[in-house]
Amino acid sequence: MSLYQAPLRDFQFVLHELLETSTVMQACGRSDFDAGTIDQVLAAAGEFAEGVIAPLNASGDEAGCELRDGVVTTPAGFRGAYRQYIDNGWSAIACSAEHGGSGFPTAVENAVNEIFGGANMAFSAYPGMSQATYVNVRANASEELKALYLPKMARGEWAGTMCLTEPQAGTDLGLLRTRAVPQPDGTYRITGSKIFISGGEHDLTENIVHLVLARLPDAPPGTKGISLFLVPKVIPNADGTLRERNAVVCGSIEHKMGIHANATCTMNFDGATGWLVGEANKGLAGMFVQMNHLRLGVGITAIGVMEAAWQKALRYANERVQGRAPGSTAPADLIVLHADVRRMLLTMKANVEGLRALALWASQLVDVSHAHPDADRRRDAESLVALLTPIVKAVGSDVALESTITAMQVFGGHGFIRESGVEQHVRDVRIVSLYEGTNGVQAMDLLGRKVIADGGIRMRAFVDQVMAHAETLHARPETQEFAGPVLQLARRVREISSELVALSVADQHAAGAASVPYLRLAGHLALSHVWLRTVEATRTKADSGDPFYASKLATARFYLKRLLPQTVALCEEIRAGAGVVMDEAALPSSS
Ligand SMILES: Cc1cc2nc3c(=O)[nH]c(=O)nc-3n(C[C@H](O)[C@H](O)[C@H](O)COP(=O)(O)OP(=O)(O)OC[C@H]3O[C@@H](n4cnc5c(N)ncnc54)[C@H](O)[C@@H]3O)c2cc1C
Repeated sequence: MSLYQAPLRDFQFVLHELLETSTVMQACGRSDFDAGTIDQVLAAAGEFAEGVIAPLNASGDEAGCELRDGVVTTPAGFRGAYRQYIDNGWSAIACSAEHGGSGFPTAVENAVNEIFGGANMAFSAYPGMSQATYVNVRANASEELKALYLPKMARGEWAGTMCLTEPQAGTDLGLLRTRAVPQPDGTYRITGSKIFISGGEHDLTENIVHLVLARLPDAPPGTKGISLFLVPKVIPNADGTLRERNAVVCGSIEHKMGIHANATCTMNFDGATGWLVGEANKGLAGMFVQMNHLRLGVGITAIGVMEAAWQKALRYANERVQGRAPGSTAPADLIVLHADVRRMLLTMKANVEGLRALALWASQLVDVSHAHPDADRRRDAESLVALLTPIVKAVGSDVALESTITAMQVFGGHGFIRESGVEQHVRDVRIVSLYEGTNGVQAMDLLGRKVIADGGIRMRAFVDQVMAHAETLHARPETQEFAGPVLQLARRVREISSELVALSVADQHAAGAASVPYLRLAGHLALSHVWLRTVEATRTKADSGDPFYASKLATARFYLKRLLPQTVALCEEIRAGAGVVMDEAALPSSS
């Protein structure tokens, strides 16, 4: 039985037929990524995922990580797999050529990340965090730090972390207390304790580069007084050889619900030597480079786990015989023939395919925002990435969790049993709604900072884009049935966004009470747009006899008819307002 199969055909469809990645990259001055090259990379990623890391998924979950005398040991097989990972060049896939990287487009990088996340989420989270650390150092550090650290990080010889959270400072980083004291030689002494640090300590690499948020002695209070420091586990010499162990140790590792094989560490900094990254007191803005990269990245990992669960459920539904289907004369039939099981399977399929297309589109926009020669295109892409990032992170992870639970439902009681492999997916994917900013925080980011803060201008531009596309397809008889519901939804989102912008002036709780259903509503807007583009890309091919296209079209119809109507309830929920939420009589006080 295959544990996980990279969905290569769907990646080819999304990257080549839907997003036309090679053409877009050519417009961005990169003509070296033709479809053949991209397909080769995806096939190699699939081979590595299926053959090397998927077989370590269940055993890694069972064994977990171990901490002894400050040393974290990853589960059996992880070191060897990581060695192959870097020898195959995966750590360098999207790094810059000057650091020895391959510079692949973000959409390809994230397609590969989805594959690795689906095969083994706990394993892929180590290099995933390192990639994000690389991006942060590249964007914010001095030339000296970049020259010393980035080639090692691109080769995967040195890993990376993000050290924000402290016991009293989770969502609210303004409360963090870790101190940084300047030294005469230009370095800083970092002292404090960070909790929940992913990959804070492990045995996969010889060095780990911690990016740490801390306060200078004269820093203003709150988020305006946070600076960013690079603190290596082992301090290197100027030539990159390792010199001496820094004063940072892992005090404990967490025992947690899922991703057992990914070490979640308490890191104690006891006067550790650090180097300032970027400007003093501007560290949070610098760290957002890494967080935004990770928000897209973890959303994509969740989509990978959802794919793995969906594959298992589909296979099981085609093997398990139980109950007679209506009209059948057999003693019992495959459960895939029952309407309710088909509903569950199609819900999972529509979710995973829609979210994959959305996440890879957002990834492509990242490249357009950096490299397109037209400044207007760059600006529009950046604006859309800002809207789509919290959607991919939060809708991706919430829907992935729902889908893994649905996969368990397809298995019946057998899904609750470890051997099915499905319950691990539920436990693993649960974290994605919580870290890199909880999904509640993503929703406030979307509604508060990206919609209300600019009077709804950015969201209106997106709605206009969705509407213009839907109107074109509505005018064609063959696509009218698909475009109608999208047009209707776009009108609703336009209205409700304006209402919330107006309401938030008078009611300070309006945004907080509406943000989570609003994010889900906006997620449907983005997904319905992507499904409509999918219809456009498949319509003429659906009669070709290739079942892939017929299935795409049928799944688009399912999404638009069966899942999109959830938006009516979401609008009702938003319009119910903050009053019922803030009613003091409703929640008993705990004292
Ligand atoms: C396995 C794991 C790995 C992690 N990896 C890392 C890592 O590598 N680096 C790192 O720095 N951190 C890491 N974290 C920490 C993670 O990012 C935090 O747990 C997360 O940001 C939430 O903080 P908290 O747990 O303190 O929750 P809190 O901030 O206490 O939030 C509790 C609840 O209150 C809500 N809430 C908080 N503030 C507001 C507000 N203003 N308005 C409305 N609602 C609010 C939240 O949405 C949440 O529902 C990890 C955590 C885990 C469990």
